[in-house]
Amino acid sequence: MYNAIVCRYHEIATKGHNRCVFEQRLMDNLQRALRRIGRFRVRRVRGRIWIEPEAVAEFTAAELEQIQPLIAGAFGLESASPAIRLPAELEAIKTRVGAIAPALFAPFAGRPGETSFRIRARRSDKKFPFRSAEVEVALAAAFAEAVGPERLRVDLEQAEITIGCEIRHEFALLFFESWPGPGGLPVGSNPRVLTLLSGGIDSPVAAYQVMKRGCPTDFITFHSAPYTPPETVEKVRGIARKLNEFQWYGVLHVVNLAPFQKLVRDCCNERVRTVLYRRAMFRIAEAVARQGKLQALVTGESVGQVASQTITNLDTINAVVDLLVLRPLAGSDKLEAIRLAEKIGTLAMSEVAVPDSCTVFAPASPSTAVPRAVAEAEEAKIPEYDRVLAAIIADSETIDERHSDPAE
Ligand code: ATP
Ligand code: MG
Repeated sequence: MYNAIVCRYHEIATKGHNRCVFEQRLMDNLQRALRRIGRFRVRRVRGRIWIEPEAVAEFTAAELEQIQPLIAGAFGLESASPAIRLPAELEAIKTRVGAIAPALFAPFAGRPGETSFRIRARRSDKKFPFRSAEVEVALAAAFAEAVGPERLRVDLEQAEITIGCEIRHEFALLFFESWPGPGGLPVGSNPRVLTLLSGGIDSPVAAYQVMKRGCPTDFITFHSAPYTPPETVEKVRGIARKLNEFQWYGVLHVVNLAPFQKLVRDCCNERVRTVLYRRAMFRIAEAVARQGKLQALVTGESVGQVASQTITNLDTINAVVDLLVLRPLAGSDKLEAIRLAEKIGTLAMSEVAVPDSCTVFAPASPSTAVPRAVAEAEEAKIPEYDRVLAAIIADSETIDERHSDPAE
């Protein structure tokens, strides 16, 4: 019965003169994602985006089922509702409400007692001859007449059946459910960045957070073959693939840090190893980012979470790069990250236990405070530090985990 999906956005609407750039990006993203499902038209009309079937009158149930999760991942959207679009005439709207009432009531029909319902009407066309409250009364009457008033009770706060009605300049809309969107800004409306992606819980969430703010992201992961097994990389590939469902594409750079780690093991104070690994990761990531013209690094670091994330150590690690580093989880608790990871679908993947690059030759008691000067002095003990890093970068591999698009 639905012939349109109305998509609502919020933050984009607060944008000034470049608002249409964000709207266009959102429409392009929706169009691209919808191509995986079927043929649909995406239009913008007065602060709303519309999805309509291209060749036929109505969506099929199967299409709606596939479109709903897509809305949940479309950054920039607040919510969407499958809707019936009809002429903006009160009589026509009343008739339609009466006609669909039995279907709306069906899930509650076999139950004794009253079912709660409400009508929520909005009139964006102020020339429409009835006020919202009048529309609500008229539609409530039409609904009650079709179902039987004795079986219903109005509840404006928490109704089992909600009928939304929006009267616009060109037409009216009826809708009965609201699918939540993720909010944020359309991915691609900000520059591309590079996420340091480990197999942990936090970094996939960090990548999600920056994508939600409009930045598409490439990924870089470090392993330590042969000290870590192939599963270490396989796990991160799976996570990158999952994250790419939220954006158009993102490549994964796979870097073997083991040659460097062996030198650290042989030349440096055991207690500062992790900080030295992390500084090398940042340097390599910066080089890769600059090569690809990516404008920031992103990590899942959270202040104080582990020894390498004390303020002193974060500073010592951060000092080696001259590129913006975004840490969307800086102020998050682990539990908050876990909840988000669950929501975006990476938690179960992250929980698979495989060895991590950082734990290779890791000391039993890492230092929680490695001043910059100490890290520099330790690095000076490593022969040909720069050459080792350059060789590691040259040896790295780039995997295209592009999300498939039939139009490409
Ligand atoms: P995560 O759950 O993201 O692994 P964590 O709490 O385990 O985070 P650390 O292992 O200290 O924290 O890593 C901090 C951040 O450094 C990670 O969020 C990630 O951005 C980056 N990082 C750590 N290890 C790697 C790795 N092997 N490859 C790529 N990035 C890494
Ligand atoms: Mg980790």
